[in-house]
Parts: sequence; C-alpha cells; structure tokens
Amino acid sequence: MSEISSQPTLSMGSLGGTVSMQAGAPGQGITPQVDCAALLASVPQLADLARVRAKTLCLVPSASLGFAQLIDVLEWARQEIEQGAQGVVLTQGTDTLEETAYFFDLLWPFEQPLVVTGAMRSASQPGGDGPANLLAAAQVALAGNSRGRGVLVVMNDEIHAAARVRKTASLTVAAFTSPGHGREGLVVEGVPLYRQPARPRRVLPIPRRSEHCVALLEATLDADTRLLEAIPALGYAGVVIAGFGAGHVSATWAHALQTIAQRMPVLVATRTGNGPTAMSTYGFVGAEIDLRQKGLHMAGALCPRKCRILLWLLLANGLQASLEEYLHP
Ligand code: ASP
Repeated sequence: MSEISSQPTLSMGSLGGTVSMQAGAPGQGITPQVDCAALLASVPQLADLARVRAKTLCLVPSASLGFAQLIDVLEWARQEIEQGAQGVVLTQGTDTLEETAYFFDLLWPFEQPLVVTGAMRSASQPGGDGPANLLAAAQVALAGNSRGRGVLVVMNDEIHAAARVRKTASLTVAAFTSPGHGREGLVVEGVPLYRQPARPRRVLPIPRRSEHCVALLEATLDADTRLLEAIPALGYAGVVIAGFGAGHVSATWAHALQTIAQRMPVLVATRTGNGPTAMSTYGFVGAEIDLRQKGLHMAGALCPRKCRILLWLLLANGLQASLEEYLHP
C-alpha cells in the first residue's frame, strides 16, 4: 500500500439511484437512502488507490434529476478539480445516465476524467453490482490514459463514451451498450484498456439560462399532427423527432414540421437505436432530402435523447446556429 501522503485525490459525488437504494423495512420497495460516505465504505479497496473526498449531492431516482441540478453538480465537480482532484466519480441512477453523461460531457472542460457509474442491483439484492462498478469507475478516473477523454460511463467493467452510450436493457446487469460504435474500452485487472487514443473534443460554456424547453416526439405509424401543431403555442424553443428508419416521417408530419422549422430548430434522428440518419438517399416527402430542403436538421449518429440534450445546451448558449457542426463534425 502506498503512503497516504503520496496518494492522488479522487472526488466522489452521489446523486441517488439504485446504487444508493435500499428498503426501509423488509418487504418494502427500495428507495434512495444510502449516502456517499456509506457507498465509499462498501468499497474498502478504494483506500489503497486514493484519498477520496465523498459528497452526497442529492438522493433521488434519476428520473427526477433536472438540468439546473446538473449544472450545480458540474459546479461542485469543477471546484473539486480546482482543489486538486485527479478525477471525479459520480454515482447516480441508471435510467437517465445516458442523458446526464452526455450533458456533462458537452460542458466538461478539464483533462481530468469525470466518470459516471451506478448499479443495476441494489446492495440488498444478491450480487449487487454497485461496489464493483464504483471501484472500476475510480480506477478509470485515476488512470493517466483516461485523461482528455471527457466524460466516461463505467458499468460492468466496460467503459463507454458519453456521446454513444445507451441503456439498452431494463433490468440485466449488462444494461449499457454503445450501439453502432462499441465500447471505448474495458477495465482489466483494475487497469483501463482503450481501443483508441483520446480524440479532440468541443466544449460548450456553462449555460446561464435553463428555463427553455426542447420537445421530443417519436414518429409512429398513422400518427396525427395535433401534438406537433400545438408545439409553437406551448412555448418550446426546439423540437427533436425520433424518426422512422434513416430519419423519416410521414408526409403529413413533414408539412407540420416545415411550419415549426420556420420558428425554431427541428432535428430528426432515428428511432431505431442503431446507426446514423441518411443525408441524400431517399427522395420521398418526409425523407431526408425533403426534410433538409424544408429547413430541418438530420441528427447523424446522435440518438434522439442526446439530440435533445445537445439542442437544449446550444439554445442555452445562443449557439443553435452551430448545430450542424456538432451533428456532422
Ligand atoms: N433503476 C434505476 C437505477 O438503476 C433507478 C434510477 O435510475 O434512479 O438506478
């Protein structure tokens, strides 16, 4: 074991989720109650790796996190880095982790890693995966070869890029994948192994406004246009459509979306969960060539939920004119 004084500092913040959940009494459902100090105590091996500063930031199911709260979390993480932390680990619920990780990634300006993790099984279930995920996340956050990679998601010994990772299973331990891309790396015997070197990143300023909203609607067979038509009057600042196949909608939706696109940015992604939208293949009304002519943006490989995060952050900074540069770098 290394001397305490020579150990790096790791900061760990907890937000809640299954990793922090237990039942209040036998037979009751689990809820977030385990604070960050108790999470830390469940992984005694961490004491050999780093001096850990632990902070309970909130204790909520991840469905109830909000953008303004995430900005506060980033402010805490920024202070931790400025006070000498070599990396930051955040624990949270897995349900919205694919969105929060991308939100953090678009705003994380440091070389030091920010690693997000959670658990699919609570500590009260046999084989709870929280402690193993936490240890692997700390190993990734402290490793030199993790620097410059922005925000990483570590679950089940796999390392995923924030821009690509998705929760693709509701209850299994291997719930996170990066469809169409594959994982960034693996944690093997406590060491992160990456498939590629770190790539240059674009980072947005921390937003000064957070009251605006971006709508996300999915194209479905024979859907009417009433919700679409209501969007401008409801005060939305932008719209994301989870389109069919390569980023397509019906002819009636195409006409409704053209009207909306005259007022605000409209982004069409694919609802398939795998692969990019097309740019110049299909020529029917509601396909990419027509939609682009109507002033809509095709999302490329970014999934609909991450498109909503990107558009929200660009709007927050008045940078919506740069949308295409982010979608098609
Ligand atoms: N099932 C979720 C989790 O894995 C609950 C949540 O996202 O808070 O943590």
